[in-house]
Amino acid sequence: VASKETLGFQAEVKQLLQLMIHSLYSNKEIFLRELISNASDASDKLRFEGIEHPDWYGDDPDLKIKVSFDKTARTVTISDNGIGMSRDEVISNLGTIARSGTKEFFSKLSGDQQKDAALIGQFGVGFYSAFIVADRITVETRRAGLPATDGVRWESDGSGEFTVESIDRLQRGTSITMHLREGEDDFLSTHKLKSIIRKYSDHISLPIQMNKEEWDADKSEHVIKDELESINQSSALWARAKSEITEEQYDEFYKHLSHDYEGPLCYSLNRVEGRSEFTQLLYVPARAPFDLWDRNKRGGIKLYVKRVFIMDDAEQLMPMYLRFVTGVIDSTDLPLNVSREILQESRDVKIIRESSTKRVLSMLEDLANSDDELKKEKYRTFWTQFGQVLKEGIGEDQPNQERILKLLRFASTHTDSADQTVSLAEYVSRMKEGQDKVYYVTGDTFNAAKNSPHLEIFRKKGVEVLLLSDRVDEWMLSFFTEFDGKQMTSVAKGGLDLGSLSDEKEKKDHEETEKNFKDLLDRMKLALEDKVKDVRVTFRLTDSPACLVSDENELSGNLLRMLKAAGQ
Ligand code: ADP
Ligand code: MG
Repeated sequence: VASKETLGFQAEVKQLLQLMIHSLYSNKEIFLRELISNASDASDKLRFEGIEHPDWYGDDPDLKIKVSFDKTARTVTISDNGIGMSRDEVISNLGTIARSGTKEFFSKLSGDQQKDAALIGQFGVGFYSAFIVADRITVETRRAGLPATDGVRWESDGSGEFTVESIDRLQRGTSITMHLREGEDDFLSTHKLKSIIRKYSDHISLPIQMNKEEWDADKSEHVIKDELESINQSSALWARAKSEITEEQYDEFYKHLSHDYEGPLCYSLNRVEGRSEFTQLLYVPARAPFDLWDRNKRGGIKLYVKRVFIMDDAEQLMPMYLRFVTGVIDSTDLPLNVSREILQESRDVKIIRESSTKRVLSMLEDLANSDDELKKEKYRTFWTQFGQVLKEGIGEDQPNQERILKLLRFASTHTDSADQTVSLAEYVSRMKEGQDKVYYVTGDTFNAAKNSPHLEIFRKKGVEVLLLSDRVDEWMLSFFTEFDGKQMTSVAKGGLDLGSLSDEKEKKDHEETEKNFKDLLDRMKLALEDKVKDVRVTFRLTDSPACLVSDENELSGNLLRMLKAAGQ
């Protein structure tokens, strides 16, 4: 296996490389953040696997990251003593993109550099971003637990192929050397590298070290010493005192967790003590990831136990309808060898999930109920990005239903705009004298709902109707029947009773009319015998001659269409 092989990148990698070099050039220093982020992940993985294999640490137990440069060779090197990679892992990790959402990502590319740059940031630029500044990259690595003869060297100029060969490597972990492109010599400086690391990677929980640089009076120049110094605080961000964490650090930590290139919408850090002890740092992103609707979506919550990373995407720690939340939960009570199966049954996990759910809802309430314009705007952003997912909570999280109901926003005839901005409380506050129900209409699209003939009488009487057209709406409505004591009422259901909204005279007129039309109705019923259940005179239409309605207790037309489409 000592043989050297040349392999081709997966087509998507080539495309990604092209794109990245061109669209991210103006922000090229982020490569350092990406490589440090990977080194940190690799150390987390060793800490976790090392619980079962303490011998893997050998005589090198202190996990750290080292950044160095060589002015003569024009290289920058980032090394870690984390988990490392086997030959097979090198080939698949540094030759393909295995990430979920890859297909969606490539299908969304537009060819417009600025738009694509934003997309790529959101996708997560990762290891390949090193090619923005390097025209050749050499990776040397050995997986923890494998013998020194099982080292691997990977090399590529980023143009389409890479080579892998087996080497002897004494140290465990990975070392990545970038041969800088012409004109990138800026990075060959202690000062420059330090300032980038402080800017992007200060939240990293293990030491990031560089060789000390000192002024040598005799030589009259800066000289680089053998002695190392740590450049970051190297403590877990969530374990620091709140007063010592800056906005930038919260932001950068979020980007590290989420692969988002923009900061979050809001965050919340709490230490919970009592029956169960844990720290939660939770973020609500400012925009939906590609894979929000992908059941295999990764990300979400990272679980730590006493600072030791345990697993990504611990879905038991957050209900499904809050799957867009990213963050860290660090528990003091769970065992280090906790598995997904154990999580499912753990009492501690239940407490953590309930507490985290409440935290997220409070964060959202804080935005939704604020008088501050910035926060209000943030809530609107939140709703456009994640409103449909939050609606799932109405059915999924009965205990918090009241709170979630207040967070819902709808389109309505009040504005007739497709923007969903009206809360149920706002609707209720605008209800007409004598109105005792919350009216809504559903449709496949916003326009279908807005132009429904069922709305005519309501528009005439100036009664507001909510316009529902999201796929989850009908499903959601099957889980709540009233808000604030007002019954949720579809304007499309038969026998619509406008209650005290119609006056006595109107009622008399209606009875009169019904009598006059009785003969006609009987004949129509006969003619349509096997097609409809009933034919009635209606007062709900003002412009249209007739409309179809469903029975009080039956599935609505829209839901029926949906079920049919789903093959039921
Ligand atoms: P991501 O970090 O989002 O998975 P990257 O492109 O940054 O994507 O890295 C690709 C993969 O390469 C990682 O998932 C990891 O398996 C592997 N990798 C990268 N850097 C290292 C490293 N320093 N040590 C071990 N594995 C690494
Ligand atoms: Mg990465």
